Amino acid sequence: MTKPLEDVLTFDKSFTRQEPISESGIQKAAEVLQSGRLHRYNTLGDEIAEASLLEQEYAAYVGSRYCLGLASCGSSIYVALKSVGVQPGDKILSNAFTLAPVPGAIKNAEAEPVFVEIDEDYLTDLNDLEKKAKASGAKYFLLSHMRGHIVDMEQTTEICNRLGITMIEDCAHTMGATWGDQYTGTFGKVGCFSTQTYKHINSGEGGLLVTDDKDVAAKAILYSGSYMLYDKHLSRPPLEVFEKHKTIIPNFSLRMSNLVATLIRDQLPHLEEQSKRWNERYRLIEAQLQDTPHIRIPRRREKEGYVGSSFQFTVTNTDSTTIEQFVNTCADRGVAIKWFGRMEPKGFTSRHESWAYFQNNEALPETETIMDGLCDFRIPLTFTFDDCKTIVAIIRQVVSKVIEGDQ
Ligand SMILES: *Cc1c(COP(=O)(O)O)cnc(C)c1O
Repeated sequence: MTKPLEDVLTFDKSFTRQEPISESGIQKAAEVLQSGRLHRYNTLGDEIAEASLLEQEYAAYVGSRYCLGLASCGSSIYVALKSVGVQPGDKILSNAFTLAPVPGAIKNAEAEPVFVEIDEDYLTDLNDLEKKAKASGAKYFLLSHMRGHIVDMEQTTEICNRLGITMIEDCAHTMGATWGDQYTGTFGKVGCFSTQTYKHINSGEGGLLVTDDKDVAAKAILYSGSYMLYDKHLSRPPLEVFEKHKTIIPNFSLRMSNLVATLIRDQLPHLEEQSKRWNERYRLIEAQLQDTPHIRIPRRREKEGYVGSSFQFTVTNTDSTTIEQFVNTCADRGVAIKWFGRMEPKGFTSRHESWAYFQNNEALPETETIMDGLCDFRIPLTFTFDDCKTIVAIIRQVVSKVIEGDQ
């Protein structure tokens, strides 16, 4: 029996097309440009820099005592590691499903990673975390909330407290996201956020570091490159805290500029609303992709207040040649899926096997198997609900054609 031919759907919008900077953002940026005072310490008298105002606002937003603006999230993680006291050769636990700047920050701090397995929902395997913590004696855990999947933070915090482990959170994909009623980035000693173009606030590049610890805050400000002008920060510990650190902390020059800070300040009040718009799209895609053969959608925890700015799923019960063909056919039809199964990192994918700058990069069988089928695409807010439906329809068609072999 012959089935009627389905229309071959295609999609022609870019998966990397962001919304424009708002008119008010452009206006405020123009004012900073007109002032010429782009450097955060270039203030006169009692003028307050945009960067300082942003730090005060972001600390209040997430409910942290202190916040510091930096050049990027990757540099924030590096500064965080140094500020909590990581020394060359120290071991750092870190979930292996993450992006290249995370192992990069560990390398930059001259530390040794101890990679922890992930589970089928892309979350840190907490049994493996405990096992590796005990076996390695590591005293730091760099938790990356990769692609916005948030592991049980009560259990994680309990393990870290019990084993005397300092936790640092990489919140590059969880700006605006919560576990229960608490923002991510406030569970560990330090939280690091990104305002790079592909994240939840777009200032081109930018990082925000939050902490409640006064020594960590003072050290981070000094590392970021304060030229001894730290008294100009609004979000900072008392000046005497800087006294014991100021001559022994080097200046790494990783500051945020006022132009970047202005763009972030303009977008921060809209973050909640934008998160809702992302989640409407995420949930529509999730509902429509549900029950597609060979596709497993990760289960979200009840307390996970995620921001669905990208979508992940696992292609199951097939071989990697077929998955590659699936991804390529989707690409031919305009659906840009990133596949973490590729051994050679491409674009923004990354696998621990390709971080060859580490010597002791042990096998991670659980993670490697999951990554072999892991697919990922962005959900830019320039996509309409109809765009999301078209994307799902294309994926479903390609699954049936390439994986199930229907004609
Ligand atoms: C983007 C990203 C980073 C780094 O952010 P930058 O601001 O580009 O340095 C870190 N971790 C994850 C998971 C990311 O996606």
